[in-house]
Amino acid sequence: MRKPLMAGNWKMNKTVGEAVAMVKALKTAVADVTDVEILVCPTYTALYAVYNEIKDSNINLGAQNLFWEAKGAFTGEISPSMVKDAGCSYVIIGHSERRQYFGETDETVNKRTKAAFGAGLIPIVCVGETLEEREKNITFQVVETQVRGGLANLTAEESAAVVIAYEPVWAIGTGKTATPQQAQEVHAFIRKIYKEIYGDAADKVRILYGGSVNPKNVSDLMKQSDIDGGLVGGASLEAESFTQLVKY
Ligand code: PEP
Repeated sequence: MRKPLMAGNWKMNKTVGEAVAMVKALKTAVADVTDVEILVCPTYTALYAVYNEIKDSNINLGAQNLFWEAKGAFTGEISPSMVKDAGCSYVIIGHSERRQYFGETDETVNKRTKAAFGAGLIPIVCVGETLEEREKNITFQVVETQVRGGLANLTAEESAAVVIAYEPVWAIGTGKTATPQQAQEVHAFIRKIYKEIYGDAADKVRILYGGSVNPKNVSDLMKQSDIDGGLVGGASLEAESFTQLVKY
């Protein structure tokens, strides 16, 4: 059985104080949850402070990116072991905003994914088509290329442990959610492709949906057989709405 994962991507939001206050409230509200894995992904600057607040709780910590090199002259970058050292167990890789604004490609996604595993982190690898690609009817081709490229060359253990997030770009931060059927169709396709590459790991790998998930649409999305959780931006920023998602 795949344990559902509800992950909050806070993007470039919250000071250290705001981030700690949020998890303080969240910790109490979700203390009774055992059947869903809970994850928050604050900005780098707030990681360690948030870690100290949640280290004895059922909330996990993730970063929003990392660089693949271990150390050295890479001004402004953060290494996988630094992310681990700050208390993280997960890291988001290849979010569409990084692909769109920071030149992320399937090749760099793959380097980051492998480096994350090398440091003992679980990568959450994001894939998804733009509106233009959906309208051109090339969603499946785009997603297949991203899955085959970004998730290439994993070991058997890594291929089962990695998390994939399907995030149609047109649904991120727009309030336009994919219908549960649209999302399920792509999730099932991703699992099929993944089976071709990694065999039985496809039954274990968790595939999250992301794109304007909110307390109203979460339960219908989570009823779909190939949706194993959510990667949530806006609705993860407040303890109250994120709690509703965790308790869908
Ligand atoms: C995201 O940041 O990955 C995301 C899906 O954002 P939102 O939930 O705000 O659409």
